[in-house]
Amino acid sequence: MTSLLRHIVSVSDVSIPVLGRIFSAAESIKRNFGQDPFSDGRIRLQAILQGAVVATIFYEPSTRTRLCFESAALRLGASVIGTENAGEFSSAIKGETLADTVRIVAGYADLLVLRHPARGSATEAAGLNVIPVINAGDGDGEHPTQALLDYFTIMERAGEQSQGSLTCVGDLRYGRTVHSLLRLVAGLRGTSLERITSINLVAPPDLHLPEALVTTAEQAGVKVQVHHALTEGVLQKSDFLYLTRVQKERGAVMVDPTAFALTLARAKQLPSSATIMHPLPRNAELPTELDSLPQAQHFAQAQNGLFVRMALLIAILRAEALEGLGA
Ligand code: ASP
Repeated sequence: MTSLLRHIVSVSDVSIPVLGRIFSAAESIKRNFGQDPFSDGRIRLQAILQGAVVATIFYEPSTRTRLCFESAALRLGASVIGTENAGEFSSAIKGETLADTVRIVAGYADLLVLRHPARGSATEAAGLNVIPVINAGDGDGEHPTQALLDYFTIMERAGEQSQGSLTCVGDLRYGRTVHSLLRLVAGLRGTSLERITSINLVAPPDLHLPEALVTTAEQAGVKVQVHHALTEGVLQKSDFLYLTRVQKERGAVMVDPTAFALTLARAKQLPSSATIMHPLPRNAELPTELDSLPQAQHFAQAQNGLFVRMALLIAILRAEALEGLGA
């Protein structure tokens, strides 16, 4: 068994060559996936992680991330154990520390996918170094695998075009997916994977992106512009429009959510080649009536998570199998 990487706490844990291989593998899995569950492509994938056990321990609600990781593991032949409500259904309720839980899980599983409300929890779990840890969201910190699937979607839509602009809208202060995505965009500036060269940040002043992340992007040479309204001018220069919901569970309040919502009238101001993205779940910022627009890619984006997370599990647990996927 070989590994290309051990833990993913932050997007910065994935080197650019490894990321390139993960994206190539994800592309190849997607290309050969097919609708038929008994197709050759799917059956061959089943052999890759046979015998491995993946644990998903979630202390916060999740639909996509947990089911997507579990599906990715199962489709590669691994078995899955875990709990979707670790705050209540694990020994946390009896006072067990996160560190003890991780040590115990390490005795039962080969990899841990962890979601926890405290920023830094994944760093703590990975620091024990008893089992590979994937951060599936640590409070308002990071959500690195969401950023990988977001960026994979951006690359698919951008093709070879590397001068695109990304507009992030909504709760940029607490929205961990934006934190990871912007760190990734900054890290890829000037590399062969670069697709975004400028960023527009659209949020009310009290939900603005943490300043340290603005600095990271600017120091990497990404042009950053800050706006407090979703104006026609911003929409017209958005190749990728990344909407986010208000993170109410983290205390965020948005006085005028309509100012940061995409309406049909606003969507018409986007370039026709633009891509509308959302990490989901959505609230009023992305009305369902926009789902049929050709630019709307949020469901395709969520589906891409499956291919990217399959590739990631292979890279961590059985990297030699990447070659068979042309990566
Ligand atoms: N599902 C994403 C997350 O867990 C986005 C969100 O909840 O708004 O961060």
